[in-house]
Amino acid sequence: MKLIFEKGQEGHGLGLLPECDVPKVSLSRTRRKPPVLPHVSENELTRHYTALAKRVHGMNDGFYPLGSCTMKYNPKINEEMAALPGFTDLHPLQPVETAQGALRVLKETEEAICEITGMDRMTLQPAAGAHGEFTGLLLIKAYHKSRGDFGRTKIIVPDSAHGTNPASSVMAGFTVVNVPSDENGCVDVEALRAAVGPDTAGLMLTNPNTVGIFDKNILEITKIIHEAGGQCYYDGANLNAVMGVVRPGDMGFDVIHVNLHKTFSTPHGGGGPGSGPVGCKAHLAAFLPGPCVEKSDEGLILRKPAQSIGRVRGFYGNFLVVVRALTYIQTLGKEGIPEAAKHAVLNANYMMARLKDSYHMAYDTICMHEFVMNLSELKKETGVSAMDIAKGLLDHGIHPPTMYFPLIVHEALMVEPTETETKDTLDEAIGVFIQLAELARTQPEELLSAPHVTPVGRLDEVGAARKPVLRWTPEEQDI
Ligand SMILES: *Cc1c(COP(=O)(O)O)cnc(C)c1O
Repeated sequence: MKLIFEKGQEGHGLGLLPECDVPKVSLSRTRRKPPVLPHVSENELTRHYTALAKRVHGMNDGFYPLGSCTMKYNPKINEEMAALPGFTDLHPLQPVETAQGALRVLKETEEAICEITGMDRMTLQPAAGAHGEFTGLLLIKAYHKSRGDFGRTKIIVPDSAHGTNPASSVMAGFTVVNVPSDENGCVDVEALRAAVGPDTAGLMLTNPNTVGIFDKNILEITKIIHEAGGQCYYDGANLNAVMGVVRPGDMGFDVIHVNLHKTFSTPHGGGGPGSGPVGCKAHLAAFLPGPCVEKSDEGLILRKPAQSIGRVRGFYGNFLVVVRALTYIQTLGKEGIPEAAKHAVLNANYMMARLKDSYHMAYDTICMHEFVMNLSELKKETGVSAMDIAKGLLDHGIHPPTMYFPLIVHEALMVEPTETETKDTLDEAIGVFIQLAELARTQPEELLSAPHVTPVGRLDEVGAARKPVLRWTPEEQDI
């Protein structure tokens, strides 16, 4: 398929503006040459992007069980609310007296998510989960520093953690200490006990964890960290499994992030805006990024917390993602939120139970919102890998599960169906998974060369990762 830059020709399109009839003025900072813009008509333009959109697999195309990403249906009412001119036409520098409605959205979202997570205060600034992790770790750092406790340089991270956890720890200036998981995929409590000390700044953990299991020792784990003088950080990316059912605050966590684009339903996956609010218990609130929305006699105002770590993003975060999240929370309500979590868990367990005879489960236990399969045996037996099964799914209009993650499971496929799929869709997908396992045993070559019906076949994945071509440069262009 051609790029938009390679389409059209001189004279197509660009006819909307009349000829300039006022004297031309030169700006001081201009390009040396005019930008290379495609000359395409409106019709060519529309067709180009429609063709591109048809090649994408999104939530509205079909099943999307991408583990740990919570690709659930995003109710269209969220979009309607986020498109209200009262929200979209706001200017971020507008005086706060004229933006009380927007401040109320921020405040009510903060309060709702604090209630869901068991936290006291929250910033809505961070732009995504990883950005929230970084922010939360800076809060922990500021807290130790404010107490004159300068020796706490280490963050403990389980070996099952999402890659962003160790990465954020290092970015925030900490050293990472790995703790192993036990045979149930949970934190090895004895190893944790041995790892803590006067240099422990904190622990970063997601519960349910990345293998889809709720760590039943969580109270013991957070106690060990607190007794060692550390703080507990909850990676809330998996909150969809437990929202409205249990609260990280009650599990003993001091600081959390949630991914509004996962749990609270904003379209994501195509690089769209996300939001990773960070919540904390009262003892950390003074360090939150500013400004925060506060209630006062003059209505809602913006104020920077006393010992704020400073801004982590321009203005107030991705505001329209927050509008979507608040709409989602209010439309589901107190009953709907735990119900959604329970259905997410039910759907995952239903799929897991029905796939057990065809695939080896990494942990043969009741799962939370997702489960992980280990395809090592299948690969040994047939030569068909997790990657080949994933490619086979593409031929059936199903987005592959997360592959080769978490790293502690070999040939991993991690499936998260979410609560918004019907039993019919799950049954259809289960049928496809079973059919592919049979195909691996009878005609493995079919899978080794899959996909067969997608616009492109097997790609050179190594080449794409090592030598990506991300930019189109016209000949003799001088930028
Ligand atoms: C998605 C995810 C993150 C990172 O969140 P982003 O919004 O993608 O930055 C962190 N931890 C876990 C467990 C996740 O699934």
